[in-house]
Amino acid sequence: MAKWVYLFKEGKADMKNLLGGKGANLAEMTNLGLPIPQGFTVTTEACTDYYNSGKKITDEIKGQIFDALKILEEQQGKRFGDTENPLLVSVRSGARASMPGMMDTILNLGLTDAAVEGFAKKTGNPRFAYDSYRRFIQMFSDVVMEISKAKFERVLDEIKEKKGVKFDTELTADDLKDVIVQFKALYKAEKGTDFPQEPTEQLIEAVTAVFRSWDNPRAIYYRRMNDIPGDWGTAVNVQAMVFGNMGDTSGTGVAFTRNPSTGEAKIYGEYLINAQGEDVVAGIRTPQPITKLEQDMPAVYVEFMRIATLLENHYKDMQDMEFTIEDKKLYFLQTRNGKRTAPAALQIACDLVDEGKITKEQAISRIEAKSLDQLLHPGFDVAALKAAKPVGKALPASPGAAAGKVYFTAEDAKKNHEKGERVVLVRLETSPEDIEGMHAAEGILTVRGGMTSHAAVVARGMGTACVSGCGEINIDEEAKYFTIAGQTVKEGDYISLDGSTGNIYIGDIPTVEAAISGNFDRIMTWADEIRTLKVRTNADTPADAANAVKFGAEGIGLCRTEHMFFDAERIPKIRKMILSKTVEAREEALNELIPFQKSDFKGLYEVMEGRPVTIRFLDPPLHEFVPTEEDDIVALAKDMGLSVEEVKATCDSLHEFNPMMGHRGCRLAVTYPEIAKMQTRAVMEAAIEVKKEKGFDIIPEIMIPLVGEKRELKFVKDVVVETAEAVKKEKGSDIEYHIGTMIEIPRAALLANEIAEEAEFFSFGTNDLTQMTFGFSRDDAGKFLDAYYTNKIYESDPFARLDQDGVGQLVQMAAEKGRATRPNIKLGICGEHGGDPSTVEFCHKVGLNYVSCSPFRVPIARLAAAQAVLNNK
Ligand code: ADP
Ligand code: MG
Ligand code: MG
Repeated sequence: MAKWVYLFKEGKADMKNLLGGKGANLAEMTNLGLPIPQGFTVTTEACTDYYNSGKKITDEIKGQIFDALKILEEQQGKRFGDTENPLLVSVRSGARASMPGMMDTILNLGLTDAAVEGFAKKTGNPRFAYDSYRRFIQMFSDVVMEISKAKFERVLDEIKEKKGVKFDTELTADDLKDVIVQFKALYKAEKGTDFPQEPTEQLIEAVTAVFRSWDNPRAIYYRRMNDIPGDWGTAVNVQAMVFGNMGDTSGTGVAFTRNPSTGEAKIYGEYLINAQGEDVVAGIRTPQPITKLEQDMPAVYVEFMRIATLLENHYKDMQDMEFTIEDKKLYFLQTRNGKRTAPAALQIACDLVDEGKITKEQAISRIEAKSLDQLLHPGFDVAALKAAKPVGKALPASPGAAAGKVYFTAEDAKKNHEKGERVVLVRLETSPEDIEGMHAAEGILTVRGGMTSHAAVVARGMGTACVSGCGEINIDEEAKYFTIAGQTVKEGDYISLDGSTGNIYIGDIPTVEAAISGNFDRIMTWADEIRTLKVRTNADTPADAANAVKFGAEGIGLCRTEHMFFDAERIPKIRKMILSKTVEAREEALNELIPFQKSDFKGLYEVMEGRPVTIRFLDPPLHEFVPTEEDDIVALAKDMGLSVEEVKATCDSLHEFNPMMGHRGCRLAVTYPEIAKMQTRAVMEAAIEVKKEKGFDIIPEIMIPLVGEKRELKFVKDVVVETAEAVKKEKGSDIEYHIGTMIEIPRAALLANEIAEEAEFFSFGTNDLTQMTFGFSRDDAGKFLDAYYTNKIYESDPFARLDQDGVGQLVQMAAEKGRATRPNIKLGICGEHGGDPSTVEFCHKVGLNYVSCSPFRVPIARLAAAQAVLNNK
């Protein structure tokens, strides 16, 4: 019989896949002899089994749950549902990777009308007993029965108002009894049945709810954002309750062994006296900094610090811990490697290496490559920031600079972000439903909540600037405005947030670019020592190229020449070329373009100082260049001595039903070889001149796009070679050059062995290769892919993360076939995927020579390439 349930003492830290992160660490802490309320874990495999069994928990699994419960009852000396001394448990979700805020915990399970009386008598504290019961009813109804939490909050608020008190802690036992009666009535009104009075039924319902929550839309979205496969499932932890809400010698809190925003090596956290569970993060009352515990309960603080230090040394990483104090007795409820901002990640990694606790390799493998993105994005312009006067200040919950238009709901933020606006999300407090809006926002501002509130934790995870807990704000979310320092800010007004200081500004403060220095530079140097894959950039302008070199690019893997034609001075010339009726006229128009192209290429060669530069010849369908505005059409007609009707007719004739598969790529050069001639001349002259003027050793790399057949490549290549040789002769130069192709049509991958006879290098154009392999276009797929995610058909966007199963097979096959024909063929990738860490690892595994990505992703790719080496040792 399979084992579906593990007692905490049966598990270990390395059983995360089976027990989930929370369960594995609870087990590890139990075995370290730490004060952990005991319990058991229902495995992730049981979750998978639940889905495979048509969303049912089998009798076998239920049986194992009840067996474990019996053992727990014996350990605790309490019985489930007992009317004298009832056992209460929490039911906590916990997947392999932590998914903050995705699935809610249920506390105080096991309370019933009868058990609460026993509980009150046993503890001698009726107020506390009723408080626990009302919390349980509320959580169970919300999480398991999906009755909105807000309805219960309203009842509670009404009673608080009636009693003239501000905090729930001020309600008496009798008040709370009243709350319970009303809560149960609300439950019955919503569900049509009484609140369940059988604890085992409560338990199975709760476990089922956790399994079900694995597939809620928020969880699916989070998984997609973080590359977490849907078939991992979540484990469920059932744990004996300890109580932080027993009075003023009790409390609950969260803490990090080092500062998760800056990495500073100092304990960091918050706690609330007389509170339970999520009270700290929900921002209901303002918590105390952890250091205050030293005064409140000195002995508890000493014990807390002892265990915190022990845990950090044990896991050799910064820990994020949750604890509860029950009448001066300390319990740990969770530990995990803490989420941190990118600056903190670098600081902690460098410190741990310096403290001799981890190796450089361990440091490298721990930093999440994607998170480096945060460091590469702008901060505020120092002068502009100095000149601006903050209108308020709150908690610096997640560092970074953000300026944008204010929106008050996640949907509005998302919608306007999609329209291309920079948005700032302003909320009373955030909840897991807001995740997409938070993701869309440049920055987040909340009125309530501490440094460990939902907004703060999620923002730090996403690297989004966040200022939280700004009590000075009066907000009206429905009327869509807030006031601060006597000023009113309406929806659509600009504000700026400094997540590093907590300052809030009205207006749009300009930002400046980032640089690699300090810890960042140190880590990148370590990564460079380890990696074997080269990292190039996709850049079309000297400015982009220079930026990429600053970030460590070792060459240009893709220069899209068409981007050079949209300039106001040039577009009329390319239009003239397109509309030309004869080869001569076309050549004449193209000749006018040569000086422009040549100066573009010279600019790139100069910036790149002899590093390789791959120049891709014209790729898009020509209709992308033709005029659509009446004025432009008239001007063009005049310039060419044609009638407006004639110009319009020619433009119309260029229309294609499926331009993605139309007259583009090397097909342009097959029909108009003069285009390839012009571009070859510009490349060669630029290279020869820069070589002579600056002394750089330049070997031009000319890349022919969209090839599907060897003879097609050969045809264009012959044109290129003929022109290149002619230029060399004219200039008396013996410069070398390479001609290669993109592999972006499935047929090219299939026949890569033949194509390699003509190509000196391959560059995988995975954008086109993905569209053509899937048969859907990148520009249209957004419309239906969401339905594919919700229905779990695809789990991630194949345009963001390379589909290794399908498209990856083509890449691997083409690489092998190419090498079989030409052993020293150079292989790279230049699609958008080149900067995605999982794709970088794939490229490393199939033996490509380099990846090429946008300048801002170069450091990410460098780190990911080093991690690929470490993961595949
Ligand atoms: P999350 O994954 O959202 O952090 P947890 O399962 O850690 O959810 O539960 C949230 C909080 O509930 C914990 O930090 C702790 O304060 C409280 N909690 C959970 N289980 C217990 C328990 N057995 N006794 C007391 N408090 C608990
Ligand atoms: Mg937790
Ligand atoms: Mg392409």
